[in-house]
Amino acid sequence: MEAASSARPTTQQELGTVVVGGGLAAAHCVRALRDGGYTKAVTIIATEDEVPYERPPLSKEFLQGSKPAQELAPFPADWYAENKVVLRLGITAESVDASAKRVELSDSSSIDYEHLVLATGCRSRLGGRDANMPGWDLPGVLTLRSLEDARGLKDHLVSDKALVIIGAGWIGMEVGASARAAGLEVTVLTPDEVPLSTAMGADFGSHVAQLHIANGVQCRFGTKVSGIGQGIDGKLLVQTGTGDIPADLVLLAIGAVPNNELAVAAGLEVVTGVVVDAHLRSSDPSILAMGDIAEAYNTTLGRTMRVEHWDNAIRQGKLAAATILGRDESYDWLPYFFTDQFDLGMEYVGDRQTDDVAVVRGKMASGEFIIFWVREGTISAAMNVNIWDVNDHLRSMIGKAIPVATLQDMGNDLLSL
Ligand SMILES: Cc1cc2nc3c(=O)[nH]c(=O)nc-3n(C[C@H](O)[C@H](O)[C@H](O)COP(=O)(O)OP(=O)(O)OC[C@H]3O[C@@H](n4cnc5c(N)ncnc54)[C@H](O)[C@@H]3O)c2cc1C
Repeated sequence: MEAASSARPTTQQELGTVVVGGGLAAAHCVRALRDGGYTKAVTIIATEDEVPYERPPLSKEFLQGSKPAQELAPFPADWYAENKVVLRLGITAESVDASAKRVELSDSSSIDYEHLVLATGCRSRLGGRDANMPGWDLPGVLTLRSLEDARGLKDHLVSDKALVIIGAGWIGMEVGASARAAGLEVTVLTPDEVPLSTAMGADFGSHVAQLHIANGVQCRFGTKVSGIGQGIDGKLLVQTGTGDIPADLVLLAIGAVPNNELAVAAGLEVVTGVVVDAHLRSSDPSILAMGDIAEAYNTTLGRTMRVEHWDNAIRQGKLAAATILGRDESYDWLPYFFTDQFDLGMEYVGDRQTDDVAVVRGKMASGEFIIFWVREGTISAAMNVNIWDVNDHLRSMIGKAIPVATLQDMGNDLLSL
């Protein structure tokens, strides 16, 4: 008996690598494959009808108008054509038949692979199934994940409009800063008393909150949203325990959910993300996963972790290529990320845990400082705020036992520590 999938036309080509998901990890994986001498077929299957692009500017420079869409791609469209990487844009991978090594596609075709790399990223958490928030699907309630979302949001960033942002994570705070710069009235709501405190601790969270308040953002922390309603004058009403807040526009920025469905249906081991080893191989040796969806074993930290950051997507893209090329490389680097909000730019590196002690070098009030996190006398993580070209050095300090007084003494040259 023939398998149902064989009724679909299969792309006739030499077997090679199929990457599902046309984001940052995909772009860097195919680039590293070709740079590493891989000569077999390479295909990217991508739901979005866009050449792979970087998402960080979507909440910052793109929204502010200082970086146009055509500058978001890490590699130009020509590179893919010149390097025989087939970009199948606007096509979704619908299922994976792991035993046949075949991916079924939304255009009713299928494609066979020798190696399959899943890089499907995350989607925005919605207010319905994800957060039980009535009204989340009303017109004017937006989310931000894709270039298309960012274009829609940008069109609405008109001076004097009222934007309410539900969620004070990185994307919520970044969009708050961008919208405020565009002259909107911005209100940020979160049930947390201090934004970003879970990720970065109360000291830094308070610093960011003060920056937003100083720039005119209405910060209503400790406020839980029960739903979103329609007002009589065409405005939206964001309902909270302390009253309704009128809005022309609402941004739901309440986190992201990994796009794991393909992996689950393919029978791969999935926890929050797709479980992969230090070489990004899943429980099926022909299938790898990378970027936001990968729950990967980090050899330096000795545990699996899933990281939703730009640097991780780039590095894991390259690592997946190394694994396919047969190189013995591992996921051994420390997490890194950055953010820009108003005049604050920062970079973080390391593995901060909740109980780690924050040690500030410099004065936070000056806007330029470094925070080290210390665990049992050893530096576990560090962050440079408005101080540049030091993050590589901070990375080299992780794991060192340097006395707190030495870290804080501005008389000590940082680069000598
Ligand atoms: C607005 C925004 C701002 C950010 N800012 C920062 C920042 O300042 N600093 C930082 O470090 N990180 C930031 N990030 C995070 C960073 O962009 C992500 O970690 C990174 O994009 C992850 O790359 P990825 O390739 O794993 O997934 P993505 O870039 O999300 O790409 C996944 C792609 O797969 C596609 N896809 C999903 N399912 C299928 C399917 N079945 N078939 C085909 N295609 C599929 C999706 O449509 C998507 O295009 C930001 C993210 C966003 C959304």
